[in-house]
Amino acid sequence: MNETSQHPAEARNPTPMPEHFAVSKSTGIKIDWSDGEHSDFTLEFLRERCPCAQCTGAHGTPPQAPDFSNPLQLYRERLKITQVEPIGHYAIGIHWNDGHKTGIYSYRLLRELHEELAGKRRSSVLQ
Ligand SMILES: [Zn+2]
Repeated sequence: MNETSQHPAEARNPTPMPEHFAVSKSTGIKIDWSDGEHSDFTLEFLRERCPCAQCTGAHGTPPQAPDFSNPLQLYRERLKITQVEPIGHYAIGIHWNDGHKTGIYSYRLLRELHEELAGKRRSSVLQ
């Protein structure tokens, strides 16, 4: 009876690709995925997860993740995206208004972040 699969993409396409990016430079980035999932990333979340060497502490330098609890942040310009550049067919580069622009967000990373947020939502529903 109920033969229509609700998740045909899961079996055929284990690595979903972004089909559409909606960039708001002052609020965040929304992504529609090829498997029907939707991501809604805030600027702060994306900035915290910047995968570049400077932010992750690769190459032996200590991690330099921005500290949003710093009260001095209040006196600085609010975090914004200044530019998003497509990088090949696998990533986007995000330029921030604090001058940081070395973060390359691969589609794989964005999907991992999506799963992380989705997992949090699911676990909070269960609690
Ligand atoms: Zn970075």
